[in-house]
Amino acid sequence: MSDTNPDPSAPVLVTGATGYVAGWLIRALLERGLTVHAAVRDPDNPEKVGHLVKMGSELDGTLELFHGDLLEPGSYDAAMAGCGIVFHTASPFTTAVEDPQRDLVDPALEGTRNVLESANRTPSVTRVVLTSSCAAIYGDNADVSHAPQGVLTEDVWNVSSSLEHQPYSYSKTLAEREAWKIAEGQSRWQLVVINPSLVVGPGTAPRQTSESFNIVRQIADGTLKSGAPPLEIGMVDVRDVAEAHLQAGFRPEAQGRHIVSAETGSLLRIARAIRDRYGDAYPVPQRELPKWLVWLIGPMVSKGVTRRMVARNMGLPWRAANAKSRRELGLEYRSVDQAVAEMVAYMRDNGQLEKA
Ligand code: NAP
Repeated sequence: MSDTNPDPSAPVLVTGATGYVAGWLIRALLERGLTVHAAVRDPDNPEKVGHLVKMGSELDGTLELFHGDLLEPGSYDAAMAGCGIVFHTASPFTTAVEDPQRDLVDPALEGTRNVLESANRTPSVTRVVLTSSCAAIYGDNADVSHAPQGVLTEDVWNVSSSLEHQPYSYSKTLAEREAWKIAEGQSRWQLVVINPSLVVGPGTAPRQTSESFNIVRQIADGTLKSGAPPLEIGMVDVRDVAEAHLQAGFRPEAQGRHIVSAETGSLLRIARAIRDRYGDAYPVPQRELPKWLVWLIGPMVSKGVTRRMVARNMGLPWRAANAKSRRELGLEYRSVDQAVAEMVAYMRDNGQLEKA
């Protein structure tokens, strides 16, 4: 094993351990018998960490909780000490922000700097796996037509997002660019990046706050009953995203960015998956709204919907190549329709969606 190969016996760090993606990643790591240093903002809050403690007691590996806040310089040093691999998943994924700089860009960008500067100070670290996003590859569906052959690949970067337009995507782009810059400034640890599309599937905690749940909930709870905005998106099962991280951490040859997306879906596709499983139990949209109508009324009914956003996304195709993740991480993607059905059952069983 070369110096940069991950040591399978060393502990690993997962930042943002309370998160949706992190929950499944931690489960996969514990199932393989690893010692996981789980960094969370408040390790003493049983509502946030109870499910992780339970996983640690039931599965083969060992779970140790640490405090870590993206906005506190050096706050990951203790959690990272002795770790071989750092899985940096923490970053806010929400559209409900008052101040995009403070609520999205600062934690994403400053947080990535803090975590990677800790890696620079921690001699045991040989690899950092960063949870980036397809949002760092494209900003709007309109960008897809500019990609070679109209298909997004790992060579493409989001150049259209800003603080004013698609600020979440902007935060992910800035954070990933910064990660590559810091990685290139040293030679001990290697950066491997995972770029998931919209993640769907059940959660591991009784309450998950990822925006993924809000997107699927508003399709199941009747909010979009009169029609779904005509939006194509990539979709992927959360367990495939966890597997991608695991492979990116432990495959010696893993390198670069990886689009992790099972297939192209749409808001209507999510509705169909719910109807196919649960019949008429949920008031899902049965059709797509015309783009002009969403353009006209979207900004009036939802603060997050702007005319520019509608113009540059609705009714436009979304295509991305997942060949690299299949070839180099060995991913075999699960059904996203099944993942959506399980996500609805999870929200129903945990009181986040009225029972069907
Ligand atoms: P999530 O459940 O909201 O997880 C985000 C995590 O970041 C939470 O654990 C949260 O901790 C943590 N965090 C936020 N601000 C923090 C701060 N200041 N200090 C420390 N931790 C902080 O969302 P997710 O969907 O699992 O997202 C995880 C990662 O995947 C993110 O990097 C996201 O950009 C990326 N991603 C998600 C999707 C998707 O569709 N879900 C798609 C592509 C990429 P608290 O619990 O304390 O708030």
